[in-house]
Amino acid sequence: MPPAPSLTPATAGSHPTNTPHYIAGQWAAGQGDEAIVVHDPSTTRPFAELQGASLTQVDQAVAAARAALPAWRALSGAERSGYLRRFAEQIEQRRGELLALQMRNNGKPEHEASIDIDDAVATFNYYAVLAEQLDAGQDSDVPLAVPGFVAQTRREPVGVVALIVPWNFPLVTSAWKLAPALAAGCTLVLKPSEVTPLIEQAYGQISDAIGLPAGVLNIVIGARQVGAALSSHPGLDKVSFTGSNAVGSQVMHAAAEQCRPLTLELGGKSAIVVFDDCDLDQAVEWIVAGICWNAGQMCSATSRLVVHERISDALLQHLATAFEALKVGDPAQGQVEMGPLISQAQWAKVNDYFALAQTEGLRCLAGAKAVEQPGWFVRPTLYADVPSGSRLWNEEIFGPVLCTQRFSSEQQAIDIANDSRFGLVATVISSDLQRAQRVAAALEVGHVWINSVQAVFVETSWGGTKASGIGRELGPWGLSAYQSVKHVTRCLG
Ligand code: NAD
Repeated sequence: MPPAPSLTPATAGSHPTNTPHYIAGQWAAGQGDEAIVVHDPSTTRPFAELQGASLTQVDQAVAAARAALPAWRALSGAERSGYLRRFAEQIEQRRGELLALQMRNNGKPEHEASIDIDDAVATFNYYAVLAEQLDAGQDSDVPLAVPGFVAQTRREPVGVVALIVPWNFPLVTSAWKLAPALAAGCTLVLKPSEVTPLIEQAYGQISDAIGLPAGVLNIVIGARQVGAALSSHPGLDKVSFTGSNAVGSQVMHAAAEQCRPLTLELGGKSAIVVFDDCDLDQAVEWIVAGICWNAGQMCSATSRLVVHERISDALLQHLATAFEALKVGDPAQGQVEMGPLISQAQWAKVNDYFALAQTEGLRCLAGAKAVEQPGWFVRPTLYADVPSGSRLWNEEIFGPVLCTQRFSSEQQAIDIANDSRFGLVATVISSDLQRAQRVAAALEVGHVWINSVQAVFVETSWGGTKASGIGRELGPWGLSAYQSVKHVTRCLG
């Protein structure tokens, strides 16, 4: 078991720890009663401490966003686009600092932290283009079957939106909300996760640096109390939430109380379906990436391997060897392939699943243990032939834990993959493209990868079916999520 954290002096680089909240264009000291301690999960040592926002500060942030709305929405798309491009430039300029902070606070290996920065930059640049296009598309005519009338479509910003995000991809998840919302003309209150609050402070610093009008983006930091106060705040027009199903359900209740729109990006228990015509080595590489990237702490982790019975034994053997060989360690100590879990709570949760697997009598081919070093590390873990009733087969573990089942026919593979309350993503591996396309069409999820893994492009949509959420992010769908459609119909007579 890793040692209990001990407090050391706060050293959080250039991030304001005394004035962590960004409200109405000003940095403010926390007036709430939650003390937020930020840890390095590779050592378990705290490296910063912040005071959370008070409920009054949540009110102030919402009020600031409301006050900023008329002027921000009145700007042309091209003007808002200019700000988005400057966000992208500034993220790029802060690459070194953001890289270090993600490695330290998220335990991300350097190449993963770097990809997150690329993703955030690409997102702001993409929505900069869509913001410009808004100017051309506004007030477009709608063809009508009935003569004597003309109708025009307007797409207007939804208004003041709260963005509540988790800790696993802090730069990216926030960018996927901030960029389209700003492009649409919304004003915002962002609540980062209390586990990684310093990373999103960069978005406040960038707002300062580029002269974003005060109040357009506000950032309040806190945990459950601040999240609950924000998601139930009467001054909002919409909430966009990414996180767990348990909290998502509470956020949905709060939205129901106010009868207002909501986007939910929730959990997953996604399948990776491997047919017997695959290249075994390539398949192993994709399977490992699908469950070990970000130490398996991905909503889109492909944590259920569904493999053809003809290759099952050989594939699992290869996989066990690959898991055992994976270099797990502190990203600050050189090239590692997988970092630690994010927190003591997450580490304890994954270890509880190891214990449960023992109780359930699951066959373990690799891992199922913590790493003998300080830090919240676990080894990548493989359980073979896990029964459908097992909690490990059904629940989102959020760690590098892969459960497998075998199939004998294409239909059985589809049935196994679809037998889940979640429906976020899936991967299909086969050299028969027609079959792969057929299976992709039959899978009840929001995104399918064929012969690739976790490849997310800003032009395509992101979001799930079933319990994985409501709505879509990215692409034009991500912009629509922050727009309201209005029609103006006029009699020509
Ligand atoms: P979480 O639900 O615990 O927290 C998410 C956010 O909600 C945090 O900012 C937290 O402070 C806040 N919060 C906590 N209690 C709240 C309340 N009562 N009301 C309002 N807000 C509250 O999730 P997490 O542990 O930070 O992240 C992991 C989860 O996020 C996983 O389930 C994962 O699948 C999901 N996730 C989904 C996606 C997606 O795109 N579908 C992406 C990333 C993560």
